[in-house]
Amino acid sequence: MYLIFRCDCGRALYAKEGVVRRKCVCGKTLKVKERRIFKKVENVMDASYTIQQMQEENYGKTGFSTADSIKFHRRF
Ligand SMILES: [Zn+2]
Repeated sequence: MYLIFRCDCGRALYAKEGVVRRKCVCGKTLKVKERRIFKKVENVMDASYTIQQMQEENYGKTGFSTADSIKFHRRF
């Protein structure tokens, strides 16, 4: 199982169940147990898909970037 959660900076992250810490790209190290878990998924494919959806929601709200450009950069 993979756990989906958010960093304080707003980025969505995932961690394999049992992993204690996860470092965000903003530089903050998060303790997985202390985060509110948004979702649990079966595999890493679902995890990255869920995160992609969450990031698009984020950027959609702020108008920071278009969903299309994010998809383009994140797909592979
Ligand atoms: Zn962060």
